[in-house]
Amino acid sequence: MNQSRIEAIPATVVADPYESALAQFDAVADRLALDDAMRQYLRTNRRELCVSMAIRMDNGSTAIFEGCRVQHNNARGPCKGGIRFHPEVHLNEVRALAMWMTWKCAIANIPYGGGKGGVRVDYKKLSPTELENLSRAYASAIGPIIGPDRDIPAPDVGTTPQVMAWIVDTYSREHGAWNPAVVTGKPVSIAGTLGREAATGRGIQFVVEEAARCRGLALDGATVAVQGFGNAGQWAARLLAGQGCRVVAVSDTSGGVYNGRGLDVEAAIAHKLATSRVVTLADGDHITNNELLTLDVDILVPAAFENQITAANAADVKAPIIAEAANGPTTPEADRILAEKGAFIVPDVLASGGGVVVSYFEWVQNRQGFYWDEEQVNASLGQTMRTAFREVAALSEKEKVTMRDAALMLGISRVAEAAKLRGM
Ligand code: NAD
Repeated sequence: MNQSRIEAIPATVVADPYESALAQFDAVADRLALDDAMRQYLRTNRRELCVSMAIRMDNGSTAIFEGCRVQHNNARGPCKGGIRFHPEVHLNEVRALAMWMTWKCAIANIPYGGGKGGVRVDYKKLSPTELENLSRAYASAIGPIIGPDRDIPAPDVGTTPQVMAWIVDTYSREHGAWNPAVVTGKPVSIAGTLGREAATGRGIQFVVEEAARCRGLALDGATVAVQGFGNAGQWAARLLAGQGCRVVAVSDTSGGVYNGRGLDVEAAIAHKLATSRVVTLADGDHITNNELLTLDVDILVPAAFENQITAANAADVKAPIIAEAANGPTTPEADRILAEKGAFIVPDVLASGGGVVVSYFEWVQNRQGFYWDEEQVNASLGQTMRTAFREVAALSEKEKVTMRDAALMLGISRVAEAAKLRGM
């Protein structure tokens, strides 16, 4: 079995996310009047490593899997970013995600650059042994370019704390010493941090609170739709329900469910964990993912994948507040349409920062060998997310630009300043 090349963009991809990321960058670079050398430097990835891994399958055959690790920029500190295991992952997607990580870390003002990794694999089809073998092989393959001061991976779509456990174990064995700070998102019992699992959803909760305040919306009783019901989506739904919101719709790749009175979020999570799908939930009516995105709700949380809100459906999106938990869920054309409609978008590079912020706390704890309680993690996350939101909102107000443009202006200018000071 030979998996397809990591460079090939699958036919199902509606827009190349790297083109979107570069277009966003170019527009903001114009606004910031960056000189040509700085533009070229910030547009360029520092390092790209493509790898292939031969894995012995349970039936005795050998399969070759392709993957990559992209380090976009390290002006502000070591690269940081998740690892995606997905059948449609491709190099340009990973390049876009790595660039977005650079801006995301700078906007949250944590001392990292941006990186990302991916392996093209339908991980759901692997046995636990095959998944372990692949995770360890990938850790070995990218081992020469990662490390606590170089590049620190973490979970993303398709990877879990267990996968991080195999990676930290492989890296530590190969380096002859326990080295927990090489990856974050580890299980709490092996040097992970309390609060990491919920962190991306909790970050969404904080920015939604801030956005609701800006828009004069009371969260108690506000209606919410969440697209994507994995780590980010489940925690966002759970925590927003805890704030009094009515989560009326959730979805995954199988489709969505809608209940105008509000879904029982805990029951929906239990159902998803038990059956791997939400559509069979008895509590609501079946809807499509596109119907979910265009529901008449107060708050929309895209928490699935890139390119979900596009020129084809943006005009029908009704939510006045959109908090992007996913990376790149809105294409640049859709972004313009939503801005014209007056939607308040908390962009991915700001809204989805909770995960990397708590990853940073995990790395700090690993290096100090001193561990925080969950209250400290959550309080520090709240402070970091609220500060970032307020800085972006103030810039948006001052420059009369969207929250996305303001966030990117803040992030890109911080990276440019660091690069200049370091003489890069
Ligand atoms: P996950 O694998 O835990 O969950 C993804 C969910 O999205 C699954 O329920 C899947 O069924 C669903 N999904 C996939 N394609 C879909 C589609 N077209 N329509 C509807 N649902 C779909 O992944 P995750 O960690 O929750 O990540 C989700 C998004 O959030 C990704 O864009 C990821 O990059 C981003 N993100 C995650 C974290 C994190 O800490 N996990 C941090 C920042 C950003």
